[in-house]
Amino acid sequence: MIPYGKQSLSQSDIDAVETVLRSDFLTQGECVPRFESALCQTVGAAHAVAVNSGTSALHIACLALGLGPGDTLWTSPISFVASANCALYCGAQVDFVDIDPRTNNISVEVLEQRLIAAKKANRLPKVLVPVHLAGQPCEMAAIKFLAQKYGFSIIEDASHALGARYAESPIGACKYSDITVFSFHPVKIITTGEGGAALTNSPELAKKMQAFRSHGITRDVEAMTEPSHGPWYYQQQSLGFNYRMSDIHAALGISQLACVEAFVLRRNEIARVYGDALEGVSLTLPDVPSDCYSAFHLYIVRLQRDSLQGTHRAIFEALRAAGVGVNLHYIPIYKQPYFQTLGSVFSPCPNAEAYYNEAISIPMFPALTDEEQKSVIDALKRVVL
Ligand SMILES: *Cc1c(COP(=O)(O)O)cnc(C)c1O
Repeated sequence: MIPYGKQSLSQSDIDAVETVLRSDFLTQGECVPRFESALCQTVGAAHAVAVNSGTSALHIACLALGLGPGDTLWTSPISFVASANCALYCGAQVDFVDIDPRTNNISVEVLEQRLIAAKKANRLPKVLVPVHLAGQPCEMAAIKFLAQKYGFSIIEDASHALGARYAESPIGACKYSDITVFSFHPVKIITTGEGGAALTNSPELAKKMQAFRSHGITRDVEAMTEPSHGPWYYQQQSLGFNYRMSDIHAALGISQLACVEAFVLRRNEIARVYGDALEGVSLTLPDVPSDCYSAFHLYIVRLQRDSLQGTHRAIFEALRAAGVGVNLHYIPIYKQPYFQTLGSVFSPCPNAEAYYNEAISIPMFPALTDEEQKSVIDALKRVVL
């Protein structure tokens, strides 16, 4: 089975990890700060806080922005559950803003209508989490305009979008947001095994996220509330977690980050081949606006339901049977049984429902060979027509 996604690891990645394993520090050494600097360099943000998962990064980002009970976070229904769970960890409520069927990202038109209504009802969200689905950037300029008009914060969920650009600005530079979050799970653009990072240009937000990452503990003498008791002294000043990334993971991250441009270039090349080969097949292909460079974490096609034989599910199963490891990203989050138990009345998302009946992620990863890609294309042409 050709998988839908897969990590690319080199001998230098393996060597980088081995070097840490033979060193004195497996964690809290110098690799994590080095990885953080390299991330800042790559995407053009001032601060990076590396953590043990993208989910942890979303959690500390929400906490740093002060999200708590009585607040609401809005995100896209077409995302991994982590984009919504972060609100629930903070005791806040979550609701969903429907997608734009052209981009499969959060719809700016729907967002604006919802904000107008929420303002009247005095129920504006505190935080919006736009998700750059498949690596394609959301319409960030319009979203930032609405954030300023209606007074909410923005956390970009860029788990799919390391290496992407929006209007010449790398995703992660936080030009249009307060915080940007990346995931380094093996299916993502680069991997640390498990891992994530939160980037920001705000020194205050960075400090808060650093504290939440490690129990709310500080060793910074300047920040202490009383004189030091001695060289061993540290203070816990708030309630944080152990979300630290180890040096083993960070070393892999540093090594992988050196390849991010090449990885994303290769993904775009694969996308171009799919785009040419699948013209005329009854599929809606990704349409990347001219002001965006997609990281192509995923290649999502949508069935044009009127012009085909067989249901979405039958086509999906036929592709799996043909050895093509297709997947579906994602089930609308509010459909999950847990979200149904929350007692919330979620806003209707008809575009997300339609998407769920049509979307299929086909194999997309840098190491996909030309022959493998050809067999995916042949299978699609056979099964979809
Ligand atoms: C992978 C992913 C996450 C969570 O990242 P982890 O590192 O697995 O915790 C969050 N949001 C989206 C959209 C993702 O794809």
